[in-house]
Amino acid sequence: MENLVLYRKYRPQKFSEIIGQKHIVQTLTNALVMGKTAHAYLFTGPRGTGKTTIARLLAKAVNCQERKSKDFEPCDKCSACQEISQGKSLDLIEIDAASNRGIDEIRELRDGIKFSPNILKYKVFIIDECHQLTKEAFNALLKTLEEPPAHAIFILATTEIHKVPQTIISRCQKFDFHKLTLDEIIERLGWIAKQEKVDIEKPALELIALNADGSIRDGESLLGQIMSMEDKKITLEEVQTILGVTDIKAVQDLINYLAEKNNGAAISHINQIIAQSHDLVQFAKSLINYLRKMLILKVDPDLSKLVAIELTKEQLDIIIRQGDKFSQADLIKIIRLFIQAGNEVKLADFPQLPLELVVVECCEENY
Ligand SMILES: [Zn+2]
Repeated sequence: MENLVLYRKYRPQKFSEIIGQKHIVQTLTNALVMGKTAHAYLFTGPRGTGKTTIARLLAKAVNCQERKSKDFEPCDKCSACQEISQGKSLDLIEIDAASNRGIDEIRELRDGIKFSPNILKYKVFIIDECHQLTKEAFNALLKTLEEPPAHAIFILATTEIHKVPQTIISRCQKFDFHKLTLDEIIERLGWIAKQEKVDIEKPALELIALNADGSIRDGESLLGQIMSMEDKKITLEEVQTILGVTDIKAVQDLINYLAEKNNGAAISHINQIIAQSHDLVQFAKSLINYLRKMLILKVDPDLSKLVAIELTKEQLDIIIRQGDKFSQADLIKIIRLFIQAGNEVKLADFPQLPLELVVVECCEENY
């Protein structure tokens, strides 16, 4: 269940408050300063990365009555800004295509668009999850996009660009939204916790951010969920219990024991994880995910971009150092063994046994 309390409360109201997506903010704000905004935009990228937030901000900036011509930020105080912030403006039309696929809505939109805005300078149409529109609706939309009236701006958003017809894409200025980096999410959630006067341990914050998997909305939802269950002090252990996952430190420790060929410590570590009532299936998953990153960094450090997004700078350094302790061939062997063990954990009578076997095999073998 999504907890959207924090997401709504702290939704950015200015471009300067947007987290990440620097390339997009830069281009849009430049266009605003030069008075050269387009009539159709297509925002594409993973969920929770700021597409509708930026779409609403753009609607506000083009309509703000107090915005100076050389500035891009909406004032957030005039009646236009206020109406849009509160979702009350008749000239900002938001269509959620996921629940509203019909051609009727788009037809209505096409007919309604002929009329000038009621109050604001521009009528702005935000069509979220636009890939869900029916073929007929797309056709109706296309007709509108071919000759958009001067007073209208369309912002289409989608998580699945491959389902959007090329004819639509080619009529829009397209922006690719990226997953947010771990550090960006940590910074944002840390800031929110501070506003809420909640004390949260850094590793706890990191674990929440990691689970958000690049989506700020998921991160804020998770933080809200945890804050509603906990007191004003949140520890790593509490977050682990709530998430039912093991943290990256437990994975790193196990890999250190493997590198030292210390099978006693490794086995006792696995049993400790169970004793702390962590889910071993989840642990095996985290372990394999971590080893994958290690292998990628070992194969080519230039590929760090591929994995860095999910790791803090500190974690990235540790993973590279740990990777140096294994040959590439060994690492491949270890990953294969753990993938197999990960599947066996689910079915085993003693879920720790498949992992223990791998550990012994890795430590005993003469590499
Ligand atoms: Zn304003």
